Amino acid sequence: MTAANGAAGGDVAIEVRGLRKSYGSLEAVRGIDLRVERGEIFAMLGPNGAGKTTTVEILEGYRSRSAGEVRVLGHDPARRERDLMSRMGIVLQQSGVQQYLTVREVVSMYAGYYPHPRDVDEVIALVGLADAADRRILQLSGGQHRRVDVALALAGDPELLFLDEPTTGFDPSARRQAWETVRSLAGLGKTVFLTTHFMDEAQTLANRVAIIARGQIVATGSPNTLGARGSQATIIRFSLPSGVVPPEALGIKPMQGGAWRVETEGPTRVLHELTGWAVAAGVELVGLEVSRPSLEDVYLALTSEEAEEGAA
Ligand code: ATP
Repeated sequence: MTAANGAAGGDVAIEVRGLRKSYGSLEAVRGIDLRVERGEIFAMLGPNGAGKTTTVEILEGYRSRSAGEVRVLGHDPARRERDLMSRMGIVLQQSGVQQYLTVREVVSMYAGYYPHPRDVDEVIALVGLADAADRRILQLSGGQHRRVDVALALAGDPELLFLDEPTTGFDPSARRQAWETVRSLAGLGKTVFLTTHFMDEAQTLANRVAIIARGQIVATGSPNTLGARGSQATIIRFSLPSGVVPPEALGIKPMQGGAWRVETEGPTRVLHELTGWAVAAGVELVGLEVSRPSLEDVYLALTSEEAEEGAA
């Protein structure tokens, strides 16, 4: 954990208890608890419609909540107090800035709204736009636009930065650059709350991840501990020629393209019986792989369990 920034709220940047939000009869957020320490990069990971934007906009003070307690830097964001708003940086999913101004002019303008802005050229360099500082917004690529959005959120030198799906629509190299920017922010001691539906993004950037599905948090932890989920589960994968089926008793499930997969807490026995069967039957277990569940495995399992429950 990094040192507290000395402002009100102690070492906790965000604390949420029992958060709920309904839109008419639709309960989009159904009792969320979470806590983000200062200096952390916290990722809320979930599929479309899981409730990420609703949650983040409640934390930012842009949406009202139906129930629950929320503290952001020691304040209730629903009150939209000036002190709190000037200490948060917000990158919305879409923003509209004046197209005919240059990058430097737009960032300077935003910096002027805050009591203790960060140096404008430093902000522009931090998001990797130093070479484009004098270009007009309308001359920028989509990826560069997003970087301007991040620069605007940083103009006021916020303690806490919200990034809602920061790399949606980026090509792979723009994503890497955005990740570098987020890491630099953490290096400056900022707290970052990001939402994403990319597992690799959460895995690469976050100290802690909360997986949200159908308005509820279904798992939280570091990307590594979430992957293993504290269990002894092991995943065994391999492929077989079409028409060849492994012994039913091993509970191995068919996947796409002739692949088979099983998650087990007794890998030694399963492997022994599986390889014994394959040798006796004279078949090769092509691409045989034994691994611990990755964050992706856990994410897919949790979000699909939720989906099945919901459907039931
Ligand atoms: P995405 O990844 O697609 O952005 P999300 O996880 O951010 O999704 P939300 O935008 O929070 O999800 O939406 C959660 C649920 O609430 C969805 O079913 C959505 O249709 C619904 N919803 C969101 N905003 C509103 C609104 N203003 N009025 C009515 N329903 C809404």
